[in-house]
Amino acid sequence: MIKDIATPIRTQEILQKHGFSFKKSLGQNFLIDPNTLRNIVSQATLTKKTGVIEIGPGIGALTEHIARSAGKVVAFEIDGRLLPVLEDTLSPYDNVTIIHQDILETDLLAIIEEHFADYEDVVVVANLPYYVTTPIIMKFLLGKVPITGMVIMMQKEVADRITARPGTKAYGSLSIAIQYYMDAEVAMIVPKTVFMPQPNVESAVLHLTRKEKAPAEVIDEDFLFQVSRGSFIQRRKTIFNNLQASLQDGKAQKDKIINAFESIGMDPGRRGETLSIEEFAKLSNALYADFYVKKSNINQ
Ligand code: SAM
Repeated sequence: MIKDIATPIRTQEILQKHGFSFKKSLGQNFLIDPNTLRNIVSQATLTKKTGVIEIGPGIGALTEHIARSAGKVVAFEIDGRLLPVLEDTLSPYDNVTIIHQDILETDLLAIIEEHFADYEDVVVVANLPYYVTTPIIMKFLLGKVPITGMVIMMQKEVADRITARPGTKAYGSLSIAIQYYMDAEVAMIVPKTVFMPQPNVESAVLHLTRKEKAPAEVIDEDFLFQVSRGSFIQRRKTIFNNLQASLQDGKAQKDKIINAFESIGMDPGRRGETLSIEEFAKLSNALYADFYVKKSNINQ
């Protein structure tokens, strides 16, 4: 029986052996509780026919649990100091590939083609670096990367925003952007004590599952997200006021905005937080002809 990496004693031993010191700027909070790791992996329901992409293996605590259940793990680690550590800690597993690369700079479609052509499905399992949680998720979703799901640890506050329903304080453009593609639920809340060093915030594991069908027909997904982001720039203002300020030439073209609301029978005095994704889709379709401006980068 191989000893788990993630016990507090073994983690300390590994860190000392390699003279490793944590870099806060890279979101390095390592898991030191095998139970939490088992729970994360059981959420992902892995089989030997599943390929897994992991972001930020650290010293391999989660990687080894994934490797025991999945067919293959490809893990991206930005911090070169961790490569010799991982070579050491993960030497018992022959189904792990570590790639020294920033996940945000990675061609994910090429990775899937190269590593996972023979697997039935590909999922993401990760204890994410919290400073880049949203860009990482959106890279997979907007990039149309063919994954079936994600089981990912993040700041609880971000997980709450992602899973929020209309009419709640946490509901906003992030909820819409992610729920457009995925069913989202918080699988568990995780206390600070299972990390080394402990983060300043509460954490949660989020389970995202690909929706079989988009919740609404949209002319352009980027524009849907532009409209939903623009509708929340000042939460207490009406959606009409926010759109005037956020759409290109919105102030000069008030009448066109009003026409769009009229054409779909929607009250422009509503607030963004009351609209469902389907309603945002209708609104963005109605505004599209007059206001669409191509934007290449979506920063949530
Ligand atoms: N998986 C390990 C665990 O659970 O103990 C470590 C998780 S730690 C929260 C996040 C890891 O992501 C760190 O190892 C960090 O170096 C790495 N990381 C940070 N930014 C990254 C990026 N842009 N691409 C790939 N890895 C990154």
